[in-house]
Amino acid sequence: MPQTPFYYYDLALLRRTLDALQAAIRPDDPFRVHYAFKACYNADVARTIRDRGLGADCVSEGEVARLLELGFPADRLVFAGVGKTDAAIDRAVQAGIGAFNVENLQELEVISQRAAALGQTARVALRINPGVDAHTHEKITTGLPENKFGIALEDTLTAISRAHQLPALQFVGLHFHIGSQVLDASLFAPLCDVINRLQDDVEAAGFTMSYINVGGGLGIDYEHPDEHPVPDFESYFAVFRQGLRLRPGQTVHFELGRSIVGQCGTLITRVLFVKEGKEKRFAILDAGFTDLVRVAMYGAYHAIENLSARPGEPVEPYDVAGPVCESSDVFAVDRPLPRTRRGDLFAIRSAGAYGHVMASTYNYRPLPAEYSGDGPFKPEAVSVPAQKRQ
Ligand SMILES: *Cc1c(COP(=O)(O)O)cnc(C)c1O
Repeated sequence: MPQTPFYYYDLALLRRTLDALQAAIRPDDPFRVHYAFKACYNADVARTIRDRGLGADCVSEGEVARLLELGFPADRLVFAGVGKTDAAIDRAVQAGIGAFNVENLQELEVISQRAAALGQTARVALRINPGVDAHTHEKITTGLPENKFGIALEDTLTAISRAHQLPALQFVGLHFHIGSQVLDASLFAPLCDVINRLQDDVEAAGFTMSYINVGGGLGIDYEHPDEHPVPDFESYFAVFRQGLRLRPGQTVHFELGRSIVGQCGTLITRVLFVKEGKEKRFAILDAGFTDLVRVAMYGAYHAIENLSARPGEPVEPYDVAGPVCESSDVFAVDRPLPRTRRGDLFAIRSAGAYGHVMASTYNYRPLPAEYSGDGPFKPEAVSVPAQKRQ
């Protein structure tokens, strides 16, 4: 058993998830899926996704470089992000990425200048803020007018004309992303309506687009990961199949992160102490928010299991806390768990997305290691390759 805490990725579940994703797309659906790389950087996970022919959505120069290194074809990369540096733009232009998702008018000018200086043409999609509420946590909603993301809906035509005037740009489409962890697929229907109206206006103004990128955001079941290990891709794609009025030859791009990798990752951690407080009982783990920040940052819920529980143990409420010197370093409050002892192994479930990628070294803690295997985590099944030790 490796040193805890560490992440474990179940590649068999990841493949099952990709099977379901690909099966939900019909042969005549003009749908292309990009993996939102920022959800999980693990190389085994990324290669499994690459081998299915998915493209990738990236948000920084580092991500562009890493995806190329991992063997994703440059023309299947799309590059979003509100603050792209000049170096990032140059790198992406030189690599010949599929498209930039441009987030403001000044960025449009800068990409044109940089591409012209490199003697290249950059393909650009415009990220439009559709003013659609994803009804999700305020820190992960991105499609409302007061967000920093995207170009305002009413500026769409101005931005498209500008993209056509600028010398080194090729306008390819519009991009939207309303937010993350959207569980009710019908919430994407209003997005389709906005896109249809916009497409009519764009066409009336004499412009065409080769694709519509509807972003990502499909959620996963954090409460019951074993009942719903694979998200409902069928209902998700059905909303767009029915909702979007596409023009001949047009394709739809999706950028899914959490729904692809969320359920395959687990954070494995050990109980350092059981502290009997006056009113409460605490299970103090060797994992903290430095390893998984979602609970402290978003108030997120993660299912927690005691893998060392003995049969027939009474269930008692525990506050499950990490070792970091911050009161927010708590994974769960009053969580019913079988009686817990020092040394027990815990699994924090559904940690594949926005888990390891957000880890930090606060408190001078090392970053957690990552392992993968086929099938659910079993302590005896995880070997420790020397090069993986940190
Ligand atoms: C993060 C992000 C995604 C992926 O979101 P998920 O909720 O993980 O599917 C897609 N598109 C953009 C532009 C993003 O920033």
